[in-house]
Amino acid sequence: MENTKCLIIGSGPAGYTAAVYASRANLRPVLYTGMQPGGQLTVTTDIENFPGYPDGVGGAQMMDDFRAQAERFGTDIRFGNIDSIRLDDRPFLAVADDGTEIAAETVIIATGASARYLGLPSEEKFKGAGVSACATCDGFFYRGKVVAVVGGGDTACEEAAYLSGLCRKVYLIVRRNELRASKAMQEKVLRTPNIEVLWETQTKEILGDKSVNAVRLSTKEGERTVDIDGFFVAIGHHPNSELFRKWLEMDAGGYIKTIPGTSKTNVEGVFACGDVQDPEYRQAITAAGSGCKAALDAERYLSHCPSRS
Ligand code: NDP
Repeated sequence: MENTKCLIIGSGPAGYTAAVYASRANLRPVLYTGMQPGGQLTVTTDIENFPGYPDGVGGAQMMDDFRAQAERFGTDIRFGNIDSIRLDDRPFLAVADDGTEIAAETVIIATGASARYLGLPSEEKFKGAGVSACATCDGFFYRGKVVAVVGGGDTACEEAAYLSGLCRKVYLIVRRNELRASKAMQEKVLRTPNIEVLWETQTKEILGDKSVNAVRLSTKEGERTVDIDGFFVAIGHHPNSELFRKWLEMDAGGYIKTIPGTSKTNVEGVFACGDVQDPEYRQAITAAGSGCKAALDAERYLSHCPSRS
C-alpha cells in the first residue's frame, strides 16, 4: 500500500494545474492520467483563447506544456486509471488498474468529460468504421470525401471547419434553426463554401455495408437520405463521474456538486475541479482555474488538521 497526501485523478488542464500547485505546496501529489493523457484538448485543433498564447497553440502541445510544468515541480505522474475508490473512511483508498493500492489524505477529482453519442444502434454498429467523435483524430481518413457532422455547438463548428480543409464537402446537421456556437465560430462555418448547414434536421439512421455510405435524415419536409463517407458526432459531453457516484453528491446530469466558490465536495478532503463539476463554462482556462482552487483547498484542509499535515 502506498501513501500520499494528495491523489489527483485526471490529466486535463484542471488535473495538471492542481498538480503544479500541490507540488509547489510540497504535497508530493501522485497523478493518474486516465486513458487519454492530457484529456479532451489533445484531440482539438488550435486553442486561440487561452491567455498567454498570443498566436494560439495546438491542444496537444499545450497539454505537453502543462505536463512538463507539473513534472518540473516533482509531480509523480502515472499513466493509468483509478479503477475503484472508497471515500467513506480516512485515508481514502484507491486502486489503480495495475493493482496499485493507494491510501490518500486528500483526493482531487479532475476526470473531465467524454463525448456523447446520439444513441442510435446504427451509430454503435459503425463506430470505427465511419462513425467518429473526433475529427482531428480521424479526419485524415476522409481526405477528398464527403462527411457529416452532427451538432450545433462550438465543438461541432470547430470539427466542421477542420474537416472542410480536408474533405470535399461537409454537411453540418443541426436540430434547431440556430447554432449554439459562439458568434466567431458561427461566422467561420457560415462563410466556408464547402460546409452546408442542414437546419432543423435530425439523424434517423446511419447507413452502410461494411462502412458508412449514407445517412437518413428527418426534416420538416419529410425524410431524405444523403450520401456520405464519414459521420462525426459533436453533440456535447457527459461528466466522467461514475466512479464516485456512490460517495459524492451530483446533479441530474452527473456533474459532481461542489460548494459554490470552492472545489469542496460533500466529503471533506475530496475536491473536484474541471469539466467533471462544471456543466456551465467547460473551458480550458476555467478548468485550470478550478484546478488551482482544488490544490489550495487540499493544502488548507491538510494544514488545518495537524494530524494530517
Ligand atoms: P454544447 O453543449 O455547447 O453543444 C452541443 C450541441 O449539440 C448543441 O448545438 C445541441 O443542440 C446539439 N445536440 C445535443 N444533443 C443532440 C442530439 N441528440 N441531436 C442533435 N444535436 C444535439 O457542446 P460542445 O461540445 O459544442 O461545447 C461544450 C463547451 O465547450 C461549450 O461551452 C463550448 O463553448 C466549449 N468549447 C469551446 C471551444 C473553443 O472555445 N475553442 C471549442 C469547443 C468547445 P441544441 O443547441 O439544440 O441544444
